[in-house]
Amino acid sequence: MKGNEIAALMDEPACGHNSKAKSGCSAPKPGATAGGCAFDGAQITLLPIADVAHLVHGPIGCTGSSWDNRGARSSGPALYRMGFTTDLNEQDVIMGRGERRLYHAVKHIVERYHPAAVFVYNTCVPAMEGDDIIAICKAAEIKVGVPVIPVDAAGFYGSKNLGNRIAGEVMVDKVVGTAEPAPWPADYSVPAEQGHDISLIGEFNIAGEFWNVQPLFDELGVRILCTLSGDARFHEVQTIHRAELNMLVCSRALINVARKLETKYGTPWFEGSFYGVSDTSKSLLTVAEMLGDPDLITRTKALIARKEAETEAQLAPFRARLKGKRVLLYTGGVKSWSVVAALQDLGMEVVASGTRKSTEEDKARIRELMGDNALMLEDGNARNLLDVAYQYRADLMIAGGRNMFTAYKARLPFLDINQEREHAYAGYDGMVELARQICRSLESPIWTQVKQRAPWQ
Ligand code: SF4
Repeated sequence: MKGNEIAALMDEPACGHNSKAKSGCSAPKPGATAGGCAFDGAQITLLPIADVAHLVHGPIGCTGSSWDNRGARSSGPALYRMGFTTDLNEQDVIMGRGERRLYHAVKHIVERYHPAAVFVYNTCVPAMEGDDIIAICKAAEIKVGVPVIPVDAAGFYGSKNLGNRIAGEVMVDKVVGTAEPAPWPADYSVPAEQGHDISLIGEFNIAGEFWNVQPLFDELGVRILCTLSGDARFHEVQTIHRAELNMLVCSRALINVARKLETKYGTPWFEGSFYGVSDTSKSLLTVAEMLGDPDLITRTKALIARKEAETEAQLAPFRARLKGKRVLLYTGGVKSWSVVAALQDLGMEVVASGTRKSTEEDKARIRELMGDNALMLEDGNARNLLDVAYQYRADLMIAGGRNMFTAYKARLPFLDINQEREHAYAGYDGMVELARQICRSLESPIWTQVKQRAPWQ
């Protein structure tokens, strides 16, 4: 990938903060934990495409440190969970055998596993060595007869977020538009003439969250052509160009995809969230309104009214237990505001929200929800988080897995909200699950026990 192409990706015009001159999306600062390299970002973006073989061209360490580190689930094929690598070693580099190894690895994978496609991820060593992965992928594709797609996002190109965008860019340039969608299903909730096709971009089906949302669209007769990339199949990604509308679920990762699909195919898009009752309802209604179908709008309003009433009845016992509890939230991106809304929906008070990976738009939304004096945490080191938790008398910390031991050592109840989480919190059912898990964490008998003095003290 050329330097000017990388610079263009980091200067995404659809990001509000790039309207000023010389702005650009945030780059990692020296010494700070970047949260993964560009290769890692590219791989986690595409790994949930379940029937594809994801082949990492590089030393085994690159695969080992990134493979399967998210809880993206598949309803069918499990090929995406196989870790494929060319396993380059010193001899391969010295003897210039990298390209040959890559070619044979693709051949072997296709003969043995019959994937829908092979994605080849470039990493630092072959990129510095100058392996021509584009030419090798082309030659291998002719030989094996299935698409072999190079994803050139070597780690040293930049941050994990850059890798997300490179992966999205590759999908738009090389995969989208190469096939047509399957015919409208005969047994669907509405006939083909009343149906609509949309796509969800930046929905990764972590812990099966997409499955909380899909039944709502099925009931409305809105077919999800593809999610990029949770529980997706290669063929579905090929058909995104036929979507009437794209909903952007995680803007930081794939905003360039939504914008490019609009430029290339004229598909309108909006950014929404499925965290919390009000945001889920708002997203469903926005889909119906943007599709411009009056009958769909009426049916969506009826569905929202019914689901909100059902959810309210399920949430009532939790509300009483959670009212007034104070939460320290440290997550990033879209979750830094959408989870605030969900927690406020439950009657909880959010004392601070982490913004290290948030855009200016995310921060503006936090201010809208928490007021102008909202405490935003840029620095999420353990000392800082605990200082804020003590100062604001937080009852609970909601953050990513890496903060779990910080909370536990301070005897503070903790809930994992990031990609390693085990429970799905999206949609109406997810909201009930979120309330249930917060109650379990807060009311666990362990907290009274660990706060007692030890018998020998
Ligand atoms: S920085 Fe380079 S060597 Fe390290 S994991 Fe990423 S691609 Fe591999």
